[in-house]
Amino acid sequence: MTKVNKNFSDIPDILKNETRENIFNANIKAGKYIDKSNLYKTSSVQKELTKIYYFKCAYCEKKLLDTDLHIEHYRPKSVYYWLAYSWDNLLLSCGQCNRKKRNNFKIENSMAIYNNEEFSNIHNLSESYNKIEKPYAINPEKEDVFDKLIYDENAIIKSSDKRVLYTINDLCGLNRNELIEKRIQLITDFKNVVEDYFYSFSQDSDEDIKSNIKFFIPLVKDFVSKVTLESEFYTFRRFIIMNIDVFFDNEDIKKILKVLISKLSNA
Ligand SMILES: [Zn+2]
Repeated sequence: MTKVNKNFSDIPDILKNETRENIFNANIKAGKYIDKSNLYKTSSVQKELTKIYYFKCAYCEKKLLDTDLHIEHYRPKSVYYWLAYSWDNLLLSCGQCNRKKRNNFKIENSMAIYNNEEFSNIHNLSESYNKIEKPYAINPEKEDVFDKLIYDENAIIKSSDKRVLYTINDLCGLNRNELIEKRIQLITDFKNVVEDYFYSFSQDSDEDIKSNIKFFIPLVKDFVSKVTLESEFYTFRRFIIMNIDVFFDNEDIKKILKVLISKLSNA
């Protein structure tokens, strides 16, 4: 879950057109979501979302192949049928997170109900609804939870925050095997290359380490260069460079990495 910025002065036109207004009104009249064509699913909405999310799932941060792109409703459309075409409520996700999340939306307070909102006024309701409902689900468009995420040495995500933990485990299943395997691969590749290098040099004295540290620069530079919003598992990558102690055991390697990361990530 990485905080993203969505532009509300540039809502996709298709979400404001007459066809959507008609089906919005039909949903309201029926008191439920009856749009069999799922008219929120359009290529222009998808295109805008892929730009905002860098082709990554809003929840698990997996890079999405074209076939795995889902337009996801933060507040489930089956319950909040009047928000089915709300720009505010549409996120990009992978199929697995979307299917696991389904119609789940745990809230602390009472549920916001349809209150005669007009079609032209549905795109920016999330914040006022959040105040009423206090949802457990993290919305990466509304809050930055990086400081509340903890990864262990096995790439399992944890948190001491109840809402973040709910989103990780109950809502999206962010410790499913597929994701752990990918994250483990990411850290293992980095560890292998650093450790192979380290043990290939003579490390008998502090002087040896000092003279060899420069050879680690390309390795660390390569890893740090991928700690960007565009990268798959950006949050995990960022956590790794800030928490080297969690993933490496050798004290000298830790020292080398910390020195180089602090130099290279501020460059
Ligand atoms: Zn996902």
